[in-house]
Amino acid sequence: MVSGKLGSLRDSELTKLLGWPGYRVFRHEIDEKGKRLRLWVRRKRGNRKLICSGCGRGLEKAHDTSEREVRDLPCMEFTTTVVVEIYRVCCPDCGVKTERVPQLPSKAPFSKRFEDAVGMACESAAARQVARQFGLPASTVRALDKRYLERWAQSRRKPVLRQMGVDEIYLGKSQKFLTVVSNLETGEPLWFGRERKKETLDEFFRSELSALRRSRIEAACVDMWEPFTTSILEWAPECRIVYDKFHVMQHANRAVDEVRRVEFFRKGGRMRGLVKGKRWLLLTRWTNLDSRKRQLLNELFRLNRRVMKAYLLKESLDRLWTYTYEGAALRYLSAWAGQLRWQRMEPFNKLADMLFRHLEGLLNYCRMKVPFGVVEAVNGNIKALLRRGRGYKDLRYLLLKAQRMAALKTEFVVMRKAA
Ligand SMILES: [Zn+2]
Repeated sequence: MVSGKLGSLRDSELTKLLGWPGYRVFRHEIDEKGKRLRLWVRRKRGNRKLICSGCGRGLEKAHDTSEREVRDLPCMEFTTTVVVEIYRVCCPDCGVKTERVPQLPSKAPFSKRFEDAVGMACESAAARQVARQFGLPASTVRALDKRYLERWAQSRRKPVLRQMGVDEIYLGKSQKFLTVVSNLETGEPLWFGRERKKETLDEFFRSELSALRRSRIEAACVDMWEPFTTSILEWAPECRIVYDKFHVMQHANRAVDEVRRVEFFRKGGRMRGLVKGKRWLLLTRWTNLDSRKRQLLNELFRLNRRVMKAYLLKESLDRLWTYTYEGAALRYLSAWAGQLRWQRMEPFNKLADMLFRHLEGLLNYCRMKVPFGVVEAVNGNIKALLRRGRGYKDLRYLLLKAQRMAALKTEFVVMRKAA
């Protein structure tokens, strides 16, 4: 154990405290008032193998030396910086190049373990908070965090993509849409693209997947957004399109809402007052309502049979995803649509038309059980990040953050009950 004041420490002891493999401290400076510690380090004898940072080739001879100062982890209360002696090598392939030093991952003035510490802090706090904690500008913290995440992403192997999800997030008036591609088996986002055109998704297939990897995709869970389907069928013709149940049910909810609006608008002021604030009740699944709320809904149904019918239609559509045989599923859907006859419920007629136009992608679920809800969970995570971080202009950074988040399963939005 080291005893006494920091000022009386010997360089050999500081070498042990520093703990940089292969390096020793040969000079130090302590600013007791400013709480700063500066260490000068160079390679230990016997650590003479130099590596070209251009190609990774090992070289014996140094071309020249220079110094770099980087911030390292603090030593007790002391902000610590390390002045490193750096060699340049004369590489036969790359010419004169700086050597590679594991503790110096980038050109920025920070050691790897310092960057790791900042990156880890950013996993559970916003960049602004971490910036305050480390006394750095927030923009520096974000850059550090991004490098930390890039290193993490590089070090892990990419799982095969068998089931993909495609969805979009609405970012607001100026930025419009963000297309999100995710891996349904690992529950993590794979790629982000601006807008939601066919070309957007084309870019994913072109830039991210080899022909072999594209051919391995078995299923894609998408909403009934034509441009995505077109792109998928063009790039991965073997892939089965499965329409996301969650999105289909959203369409059904919208139909219920439209019926409600039309019905009660016609009834005028007093009636409208009675249904006020009950909109969300109609959009909630029956199984998720407690008895008091069911009673409220029943009262509403007594006022208007048509709204009740709309609600029951929506509720019963859910059964479509319980079938294992396409024929049975089709029979169920036909019977469901049959109930609409003579009902004059335009929103539901439109919905039925839409379902029959997308029949194949609905029936595909019989054979290809993709996990519904993953896409929503991934989107929930991204939205949480966007809320917390504000304005991720750097999409790559946002993607890395979301991937790390999925990997850590922190703040993972609970999988939707829809699945
Ligand atoms: Zn080289």
